[in-house]
Amino acid sequence: KKWVYLFREGNASMRDLLGGKGAGVAEMTRTGVPVPPGFTITTEACNAYYENGQRFPEGMWEQVLEGLKDIEAQTGKRFGDPNNPLLVSVRSGAKFSMPGMMDTVLNLGLNQQTREGLARLTDNPRFAADAYRRFVQLFGKIVLGVDGDRFEHEMEEAKGHGQRQDTDLTTEELLALAEKFKAIIKEDVGVDFPEDPFEQLREAIAAVFRSWNGRRAVDYRRVNKIPDNLGTAVNVQAMVFGNMGNDSATGVAFTRNPSTGDPEIFGEYLVNAQGEDVVAGIRTPQPISKLAEEMPEVYAQFHEIAKQLERHYKDMQDVEFTIERGKLWMLQTRTGKRTGPAAVKIAVDMVREGLIDKATAVQRVDPHSLDQLLHPMIDPEARKQAKPLTTGLPASPGAASGKAVFDPDEAEELAKTGEKVILVRIETAPEDFHGMVAAQAILTARGGMTSHAAVVARGMGKPCVAGAGDLRISYADQLMTVNGTTIRKGDWITIDGGSGEVFTGQMPTVEPELSGDFATLMSWADEFRKLGVRANADIPRDARVARQFGAEGIGLCRTEHMFFEGDRIDAMREMILADTPEERRAALAKIEPLQQGDFEGLFREMAGLPVTIRTLDPPLHEFLPHDDEEIEALAAKLGVDPHKVKARVESLREANPMLGFRGCRLGILYPEITEMQARAIFKAAVKVKSEGIDVHPEVMIPLVGFVSELKLQEEIVRRVASEVFAESGIEVPYLVGTMIELPRAALVADEIAQVAEFFSFGTNDLTQTTLGLSRDDSGRFLPAYVEKKLIPDDPFQTIDQRGVGQLVQIGTERGRTARASLKVGICGEHGGDPASVEFFHRVGLNYVSCSPYRVPIARLAAAQAAL
Ligand code: PEP
Ligand code: MG
Repeated sequence: KKWVYLFREGNASMRDLLGGKGAGVAEMTRTGVPVPPGFTITTEACNAYYENGQRFPEGMWEQVLEGLKDIEAQTGKRFGDPNNPLLVSVRSGAKFSMPGMMDTVLNLGLNQQTREGLARLTDNPRFAADAYRRFVQLFGKIVLGVDGDRFEHEMEEAKGHGQRQDTDLTTEELLALAEKFKAIIKEDVGVDFPEDPFEQLREAIAAVFRSWNGRRAVDYRRVNKIPDNLGTAVNVQAMVFGNMGNDSATGVAFTRNPSTGDPEIFGEYLVNAQGEDVVAGIRTPQPISKLAEEMPEVYAQFHEIAKQLERHYKDMQDVEFTIERGKLWMLQTRTGKRTGPAAVKIAVDMVREGLIDKATAVQRVDPHSLDQLLHPMIDPEARKQAKPLTTGLPASPGAASGKAVFDPDEAEELAKTGEKVILVRIETAPEDFHGMVAAQAILTARGGMTSHAAVVARGMGKPCVAGAGDLRISYADQLMTVNGTTIRKGDWITIDGGSGEVFTGQMPTVEPELSGDFATLMSWADEFRKLGVRANADIPRDARVARQFGAEGIGLCRTEHMFFEGDRIDAMREMILADTPEERRAALAKIEPLQQGDFEGLFREMAGLPVTIRTLDPPLHEFLPHDDEEIEALAAKLGVDPHKVKARVESLREANPMLGFRGCRLGILYPEITEMQARAIFKAAVKVKSEGIDVHPEVMIPLVGFVSELKLQEEIVRRVASEVFAESGIEVPYLVGTMIELPRAALVADEIAQVAEFFSFGTNDLTQTTLGLSRDDSGRFLPAYVEKKLIPDDPFQTIDQRGVGQLVQIGTERGRTARASLKVGICGEHGGDPASVEFFHRVGLNYVSCSPYRVPIARLAAAQAAL
């Protein structure tokens, strides 16, 4: 079996086998870029090492020796030969770049004899001594696992604690240090430093293999969802030296600016230094532009190679290089990581430069990264230095700082005086809405990705971290404690809703800027996608934002959300608390004109586009007053006895409100509610149409399980529509459809489609009901499920394709057998999740609907799904 590939035997397509680094150097070698010769031990060898009880698989070592011979032949040096020693670097290289794995051992092959040889050959004993010192140190730390601080401590002693630099150490001092390091190794891990170069190589390779299962690497894979069975490759490569004098240097560079996307080479280098000096920050590196002045010829060659690599890979590259006595060597190339704005700019620029086509450009940009263009971010410099206090669910992207406030009224008052506040709640309810509007951001201790806080914050485009379970919030004391830190009312905090992190203090943020390139990329995405993209928007302001972001209609207007504004919640409560149909009608009569006004606003904003309005679907508990104080206030407002209100609240209390008296069940028992809403919808439609605006209302009935429920509601809607049309003499085309958010509805979709003209999958509730997993309570335990890899993702964030997805598929198919023209969409939070969008495309839905700020993400994800 072939375990070892010379660099010239590999190519870019062999990432699985050779790892990213190995495939990169192989491809560079193949295309004539100057790369020091070397070979790659395959990822299969790593896996075989483990299967073989942590021993090299048969034949591997022999192939390594063959590879060494090849390097010797190419360099004219010999491994272990004091007269002309070959030194190598040994580096890990998995398919995906993975911090936490063993990185690099340099100068391997040095011992007393070869060091002397190196000194003679280079005529530079100090250089040889320093190389030896570095090697013993790195080998001790990385391969043998000695605590690196012990070496650092000796170094500091030798330098007189800041009195002198590394470069001031003399040959003798360096050699003495190397001997001390060996003694430390012996003392710390009980083995002798191996003087035999072959032994060194054997141990270094094994150490790379072992580092695949090191703690940090395993953690990194878990967090980043990288499979454990990929294994890592090992690259063994002839050393070149960037520390052989002032005509030598080493550096790293990107072929374009990775934060802005500007098409200029961006990077840093250090003269007379070796690789780890750049990273370790011992000396401050110079910007790469300086190289053009210091070594113009080398820079010109470097520039040409960088461009060549970019043309070759047709993507921005991240390269490492070393200059040894004026000769340039490329050590690594890989696709460079970049920010969202840079990704967009680079993709669009590369199409203009003729490097890639539009389809490739559209595929290049990670839809998630668009968040960085749409929301403020924590300043990357500030972020590097900060440690999060705790982490919750990344419920709504964007970063914000503000004073912690634990009460919505107070949030509103403080905001009025110009203060920036962050509303911190155990969880939120509709009566907190005004506080959420006033706050810069929202932080909750409880609740999942589709909890009230998350859904409402996303709709407003406001940052939200939800379900930060470590927070202990005391409303009584107006403070929270978390991991030993206490945050009181008025203390500054910063949250990042894109990562779920919470920080203490005020951190600088950077505002996004929507460039022309963004619009260009989005227009290309629209050329490819098949899925429609609508928005979930409840009020005209949100509808306008949605349309600016390219929404093709409203896929869900949650009418109950319209009652979160101002005093409207009182009318809503009055309606809920009414004892008799008369009382209810009286309360409804107050609501109707407000609703009509809202709908008119929506129809105007969405002129010419469909607007799906859902009849009332409040989990009742969200709307009821909770404590005595609130009950008294409400009773006073309504002019009734507080005991009566209290009794009514009691009688409406549900053990399981999410499965209780909500959705169409409300309209079934109280048809006057549906009637009022239908009237408001059609009166608004007729009014706006009379202004010469094209309106397309789609009335949607929630939480239907039986076709009979839908039928009853549909009849009301159609009756009211004809009444309004007859009264006004104006007719408006409209549809009546339903949400599919219960497993039964998906299963009997053929029956339901006989009445429904469209379906919209409510995947929030469908997930909740299919998995028997509470939307509001799952934040407490689901993250642990994901962490333990029991499930790949939070199912409220990314659709559970096997389970819930199957119901979506079944519902769509059965629905369409009964009604071929059935329009099918989805309006749960999954509508803005790229992986879910891909699935909805695959099962042939007509559109997805998501919160306004996720519309661009859905457009791009839909295009990628279609490509
Ligand atoms: C759903 O259940 O997916 C849905 C869109 O409705 P809501 O989130 O309002 O329950
Ligand atoms: Mg629902």
